Amino acid sequence: MPAISSQHFQDPQAVFDQIDAQFQLNDQALIDLAKTFLAEFRLGLEAYNQDMAMIPTFVTGVPDGTEKGTFLALDLGGTNLRVCEVVLNGDKTFNLRQQKYKVSDALKTGEATALFDYLADSVDAFLTDRALSSPLSPTRDEDAPDFLPLGMTFSFPVEQTALNSGKILTWTKGFSAKNAVGNDVVKLLQDAFDRKHIHVKCVALVNDTVGALLSRAYTAGGCLTGAIFGTGTNGAYLEEVAKIKKLAKSPTAPKDGYMLINTEWGAFNNSRSHLPSTPYDMALDRLSINVRYQAFEKFISGMYLGEITRLLLISLIDATPKPLVFGGKSTPVLNNQWALDTSVMSDVEEAWADGGENNVPPFASFESGILTPHVRERLNAVREVVVKQFGFDGADVSLRDAAIVRWASLLVTRRAGLLSGVAIAAVLLQTGRANFPEPDGTHKPVKAERISVGVDGSLIEHYPNFERTLRESLRILVGPIVEQNVDIGLAKDGSGVGAALCALQATKALQQS
Ligand code: BGC
Ligand code: MG
Repeated sequence: MPAISSQHFQDPQAVFDQIDAQFQLNDQALIDLAKTFLAEFRLGLEAYNQDMAMIPTFVTGVPDGTEKGTFLALDLGGTNLRVCEVVLNGDKTFNLRQQKYKVSDALKTGEATALFDYLADSVDAFLTDRALSSPLSPTRDEDAPDFLPLGMTFSFPVEQTALNSGKILTWTKGFSAKNAVGNDVVKLLQDAFDRKHIHVKCVALVNDTVGALLSRAYTAGGCLTGAIFGTGTNGAYLEEVAKIKKLAKSPTAPKDGYMLINTEWGAFNNSRSHLPSTPYDMALDRLSINVRYQAFEKFISGMYLGEITRLLLISLIDATPKPLVFGGKSTPVLNNQWALDTSVMSDVEEAWADGGENNVPPFASFESGILTPHVRERLNAVREVVVKQFGFDGADVSLRDAAIVRWASLLVTRRAGLLSGVAIAAVLLQTGRANFPEPDGTHKPVKAERISVGVDGSLIEHYPNFERTLRESLRILVGPIVEQNVDIGLAKDGSGVGAALCALQATKALQQS
């Protein structure tokens, strides 16, 4: 556990300042990160087995909203497993019915066949329910195939070789099922359907970022990039085939045009040469299931932010010779790895930001007793969240403790938001939609155009001010004009709709062959 060095103990403010400084990212640090991002993009486009996988998806175009059809979709890789039936109406709208299923830790870390059997069983259960309820889709036409086409959204790195096949490269986000890495994920799923005589055929495989991009393109009529800021983080974007040098040797790949690339940016800078790792980040990594992997994701995503904050707070509880928060008391939520959920921080932030004011009062104001009534009221709201969610006795949490929790949450998520902006900026820079700042801080102009970004995930959807912070670093990196032209839109149900759109592309290809 990172310890607080005792030479600072006489001045608590110095301890807080020192921690604070470790989490800051100035403009130059953001620029250096974005440059490193572009360098890693290039490496990944040129060769296989790089940190950033830059996976060719074999999806060569984006929808325009006129697509039609009914498909099943299976979505694995976030907090829930989801099975959906998606009806694309062909007019930029869709209808969707879905059921969520829990994936236990035993399934996440056990044998892959057990996990895939569970996926097949869930689809089966969904179909049984559907047969019993009123149909969402009209009756199927007579020449429809005798299997139900399904698109699978699989939100892990997969080296795709076609729309409907690809090998699992590695697990992320707490999954580690055995005998899966290196195997074809479509085959794993199809074998499970076949074992159980379920008449479903997995015709397409997509990453959730690709799903977000496609579904945003379907509803908005175009999209450059799809990004997830949720349990994990990642992005996909439309790249020129000519720049995907490693595809040159692939017999099945197109020779020109465009292809969606799944960047797998969660693995950006695994060497941590540029990411500003604190002792809390290193402790988190060391005790994680995928040590030294997914470095960027560990700074950004919902799976990790709570844990970084927990480690920070624990170091203040353990500070010697005098604890710096909660009078040295602790609770199981603070003592146990992963026990502090990022949603608790979101609640803290919501309680605080309710009044619109967004600055944490300096700790000095506690010492001097200067607290405006407004600040006092907001801190009381934060205090209530902390008492309840951390499991404290009310008397153990002071307003000052509440302010410290809010400060810690802000440090961790603000850094995450700024880094998220670096990733989006990197895509804009890579695709020629933006320029880095000149030495004097201005930006050379680019063609003025709206740039559509489809996003999904709990952080971007629910965490207060996450998007605002993301835009802050985007503005520094690409300039205010381009930043204002970036249209960040929620790809609602992106995984389901994206999988359906891919299944449509795949069934068309099947009918033609
Ligand atoms: C996975 C990506 C996925 C992202 C968001 C990451 O851990 O490697 O494939 O897109 O999480 O779900
Ligand atoms: Mg998801």
